[in-house]
Amino acid sequence: MRLFDTLTRTDHDLVPQDGTTFRFYCCGPTVYGPAHIGNFRTFVLQDVLRRTLETGGFRTLHVRNITDLDDKTIRDSQKAGQSLSEFTAGWAAKFHADCGKLACLPPHIEPSAVAHIPQQISMIEALVAKGHAYPAPDGSVYFKIASFPDYGRLSHLDTRELDLGKTQNVRANADEYEKDNLSDFVLWKTRRPEDGENFWASPWGEGRPGWHLECSAMIREYLGDSFDLHSGGEDLIFPHHENEIAQSQCSCGGHFAAHWFHITHLLVDGGKMSKSLGNLYTLDDLAARGHTPMEVRYVLLGGHYRKQLNFTLDSLGAAREALNKMAKAARQLATRIGGDSTLEEGDLGPFQGAWDSLQNDLNTPGTLGGIFTGLREAADLTGVDAAKALAGLNRVLKALGLVLPDAVEDRAADIPPEIQSLADERWQLRQAKDWAKSDELRAALAAQGWVVKDGKDGYALTKR
Ligand code: AMP
Ligand code: ZN
Repeated sequence: MRLFDTLTRTDHDLVPQDGTTFRFYCCGPTVYGPAHIGNFRTFVLQDVLRRTLETGGFRTLHVRNITDLDDKTIRDSQKAGQSLSEFTAGWAAKFHADCGKLACLPPHIEPSAVAHIPQQISMIEALVAKGHAYPAPDGSVYFKIASFPDYGRLSHLDTRELDLGKTQNVRANADEYEKDNLSDFVLWKTRRPEDGENFWASPWGEGRPGWHLECSAMIREYLGDSFDLHSGGEDLIFPHHENEIAQSQCSCGGHFAAHWFHITHLLVDGGKMSKSLGNLYTLDDLAARGHTPMEVRYVLLGGHYRKQLNFTLDSLGAAREALNKMAKAARQLATRIGGDSTLEEGDLGPFQGAWDSLQNDLNTPGTLGGIFTGLREAADLTGVDAAKALAGLNRVLKALGLVLPDAVEDRAADIPPEIQSLADERWQLRQAKDWAKSDELRAALAAQGWVVKDGKDGYALTKR
């Protein structure tokens, strides 16, 4: 498959360097609260990349870290009155549960920053020894960006009129800083009272690693000095990934990532998501409004990863309709199959176009469109042809990680009678246009883990 590379700004073929396994790294979540659907745009697209490679016959090695040590996790664990490890373990578990609901495959290796302190310290030692890092008077250690002429290639600094030569004595101690602050960044932060219990011994005294270092150290540990692809949301291009490249190449040599895959940020209602605007949605927020994780996944797949995607609550309703339509057509196709359904290599029948879109710079909206085109073309197929078409459809759905909703009647057997009667009562209220009461019952059902979806002639109940 071909994919756009942020560094060279062109498409490249994705092929494993070692000839067998595509080895890639994704910057993982900072576990200090629930992930929002913007985060999930990035994680879902990374999942589709992996699934597409695997469905296309490659093996993969997927490493994604857990950021359990930075300014934010320390600050919020203290607010919560919990130890850092207790606090981050809770949010990591929540993240895993949400990923499961969204059908994101778990990475093969999921290392955490706290579990790799020695590796981070030895990377700093190597950088100091080679003259790329220096201790400041307070005991913190900084990376000297002027010592690495390639600094800024990924984020195209040369076009941003920032001068590496002017960074003498300009230092950033915070984990996150702005796009136009070109500065030496912190590798080791000397112990401060606000860090509480969270400090470790090092050759430069007690303290903790800076945030950018963890990925470099864990990548070295699990993928070595050269690997196939590195990924994150677009906000990570600068400074985080720029800093990772500097740390890794200066301490270890090697090519680091052969390919950079960045996902454009999700917008909500046309703007940036923020808590204060009340538009920062989590999966739970959307479930409380009756939306399934698959509907969320469908919406996230509905935009090309290099283009802006604007999330609205209405788009979830449209996703529900699209999924139901897809599911209905797939069920009809399944009733017409006969004979042998084994797929020959490279033969996806009417779903070839959908598959080709994925191969072409992970064009997920093109793939969704291709599925509907394929379903229309398959409408007259029977026997072996229908079987082949269905196998082709399933291959594309697997790559997208989409699980189609069951027919309403398929689900009925699992519903407890008291839930069924609540849902029936709600349907009656809706028919009577008593929206307030019917919404109350929707919330009551949601509280017990049931999601109601309304159709024209009835409703579907699914367990969350
Ligand atoms: P964080 O938990 O903040 O470390 O972010 C986890 C991942 O989500 C990173 O790859 C971020 O770049 C990505 N991310 C954060 N906000 C958004 C957004 N609005 N849209 C897409 N990706 C995002
Ligand atoms: Zn990272």
